[in-house]
Amino acid sequence: MEVVRITPRGYCHGVVEAIRIAKRVGVERGGSEPVTMLGHLVHNEHVTRELQEAGVALVDETDRMKGLERVGDGTVIFTAHGISPQVVTAAKERGLNVVDATCSDVTRTHDLVRELVASGHHVVYIGKRGHPEPAGVMGIAPEQVTLIETIDEAKAFEAPESAPLAVTCQTTLSMWDTKLIIDTLVERFPSIEVHNEICLATQERQEAAVLAAEHVDCVVVVGSRRSSNSLRLVQVVQEKRQKPAHLVDTAADLDPAWFRGVRRVGVTAGASTPTQITREVIAALEAMSAEAEPDPVTSR
Ligand code: SF4
Repeated sequence: MEVVRITPRGYCHGVVEAIRIAKRVGVERGGSEPVTMLGHLVHNEHVTRELQEAGVALVDETDRMKGLERVGDGTVIFTAHGISPQVVTAAKERGLNVVDATCSDVTRTHDLVRELVASGHHVVYIGKRGHPEPAGVMGIAPEQVTLIETIDEAKAFEAPESAPLAVTCQTTLSMWDTKLIIDTLVERFPSIEVHNEICLATQERQEAAVLAAEHVDCVVVVGSRRSSNSLRLVQVVQEKRQKPAHLVDTAADLDPAWFRGVRRVGVTAGASTPTQITREVIAALEAMSAEAEPDPVTSR
């Protein structure tokens, strides 16, 4: 079995920067005051553990405002997914030191939504309910932003009569799903302003995975179940190429049964997956492949 490394894969600039910020804050302030990340800094448990070992505590609540109530004092770090302005205000009012590790691509979407709302638009935001990124964006103007997740919701969306419309989206969605939802809205509301905000890192990883999937029998995606962009890599391989795709958190999750009769396996990784974990998965696949090869001497 040949193991094909799909590139680009793994860490994106937003994840690298968020980890750099959180580690620096943990080292600089950890000795003198509590340092807490409000939710997983990026959606990968290995990264969370590493940060905890570096002195950064975790408060994990889907509702960030509720989570904030559990932060006693010291420094609070907002995660790469962005945060609602109400939570920022509440943290400052509580006298907490605020560190923002929001990815610059997410900040750009926040700025865009702010501008659109200020110019009188009603914004349709395509995103996954329960994920922190949409929660942060919705907090900008809950009355002027409508969250939708599916084509059916795009078909059912009732536009306010008075306001011009705009549509934008979460940065880590499937490129293809999002296009279909946007097309549905454009068909219904031809004058809607379209701002596709899927980040470049997500686009490049999805395009590479779909391209590679044409030439392999199955794909392994290394990433966490919490990670939106990792889950989307599995989804796009399955939907665009009808090839099996398996999400693994570590090499221990690899099931040999997946690779029976497989001649080529592609490996990619979500934007929040540490490189070392992906290396271990590749090594385990290569070991599996070597074991499966007939011994050239004894098999004669
Ligand atoms: S996946 Fe995209 S939006 Fe998310 S942290 Fe990486 S670059 Fe930023």
